Amino acid sequence: MSIRVRIAPSPTGTVHLGLARTALFNWAFARGSGGSFILRVEDTDKSRNSAESQAAIMDGLAWLGLDWDEGPDVGGPCGPYLQSERLASHLEAAERLLASGHVYRDFSTADELDAWRAEQEGAKQRRAYRGRDRDLAPEISAARAAAGEEFAVRFRIDEGQSTFTDMVRGTVTIPHAEIDDWVILRRSGGPGGGPTYNFVVVCDDLAMGISHVLRGEEHLVNTPKQLLLYEALDSAPPLFGHLPLMLGSGGKKLSKRDGHTSVGDYRDLGYPPEAVVNFLALQGWALDGEREVFSVAELQAAFDPRAVSKAGAVFDQDKFMWLAGEYIRAASVAELAQRCAPFVVAAGLTTADDLASRADWWRAVVAQEQERIRLYSEIPERVAYLFADDEAVPYAPKAEKNARRHESRLDTLAAFADFIASFGGAGGAGVAGAAGADGVGGAAVAGGADLPAPAELSDATKAWMAERELPFPAFGQPVRCALTGLPGGPDLFETMVLLGSQKTLARLAAAGARLSTD
Ligand code: GLU
Repeated sequence: MSIRVRIAPSPTGTVHLGLARTALFNWAFARGSGGSFILRVEDTDKSRNSAESQAAIMDGLAWLGLDWDEGPDVGGPCGPYLQSERLASHLEAAERLLASGHVYRDFSTADELDAWRAEQEGAKQRRAYRGRDRDLAPEISAARAAAGEEFAVRFRIDEGQSTFTDMVRGTVTIPHAEIDDWVILRRSGGPGGGPTYNFVVVCDDLAMGISHVLRGEEHLVNTPKQLLLYEALDSAPPLFGHLPLMLGSGGKKLSKRDGHTSVGDYRDLGYPPEAVVNFLALQGWALDGEREVFSVAELQAAFDPRAVSKAGAVFDQDKFMWLAGEYIRAASVAELAQRCAPFVVAAGLTTADDLASRADWWRAVVAQEQERIRLYSEIPERVAYLFADDEAVPYAPKAEKNARRHESRLDTLAAFADFIASFGGAGGAGVAGAAGADGVGGAAVAGGADLPAPAELSDATKAWMAERELPFPAFGQPVRCALTGLPGGPDLFETMVLLGSQKTLARLAAAGARLSTD
């Protein structure tokens, strides 16, 4: 049997984490088994749907790398993939079910239903709803409908129970006494009204040849209804698997209370998509019980719906952030530079063109931060000093205080400027990247870098300090303040190479003036 799975979002919001996890598990199952992953948009709720939401959902899934083989945008053999465009086939199925007697017209009025509900509220044990007209003779039912009387169409639930094997939960049994004669076509909107979720989801899953339905646990109550419908339509049902809830604080279903719940939020916060995928994969599933960091290829190869846990998955924000950092450290510098660039641009530090025009330099900047950041969004604040106006680098109070502690600061700044000037834009052999990692080291750092490589510059400076009997803090604190305005941070010599001699000199001179008064 070829595996065909789907994600069937309603376009009424963004990609929340639960939807993303369901999509991921279906996708991994399809990709790992050579099957197909289908996107069907369940856009039948006209009052809540929006085109923006549909676009946001498609963007969110694509950002996670979850590509679909069939869908509203790419088409496919079982279209249309917008549920609202499948209405004719739904109505045709309803006709068939009416003819076979599996469903019936219920002419009960809204008042009658309200009265029944009120009665149930007082009752000790809830009784499932059985429509007043379930045994109306078909000719009479048809004649009343033809005369224009309004009705809902309900599914006839007979006595007994439904048992099925859930891929995640094992054997599930639900007595029919708990299932109402549920509505397949609503009363409102004229005779027949609109079809309901439980009805159309089966019509469409059937028409699209869906072999396995993996979806959230909140749908477990719907499954017996859907299975009875497959039977009524004389069709074999797919296998079902219900994924455990994702739990927030206090063991309750994850909600906005627990912080960000939408995939787009994590994108904007600067999480690598691979980390989001890895984190979602851990919500109810484990690779081997040991490794928590694994690739999508490993997920695809190992994923089996039967290995999903029944127990609710507790959402651990700290682990999520930790995973993000792991992915950032494992990334290539080139990729990290590309991913971080939009955050630096959005922070207003520079333009995308500027970064593109000095790509080697930008990579060296990012390489310097790779070990220190957990999110792309942490980059702008850390590198802002590089883009500052040389005359007005913002000095953090602590950095300035540290610099001013040294009486010799002005002499040091001036003398060190002479020392830097002695390299005089030589552009010598040592114009190396600030970092050695990932092949960036050794590449020329464009953008005015004309100083020796950081290690060499550091050695030369240490010799220069020794000559002057200058302890490191008396050198480092004024120079750090001058160049970065920060009390701590990346290696000073790497910073100088990234700035290049001209900017280094301009900043040393500006600091000479700015730190001169007490
Ligand atoms: N549109 C439904 C939802 O988003 C689909 C449920 C299903 O997978 O059957 O919850």
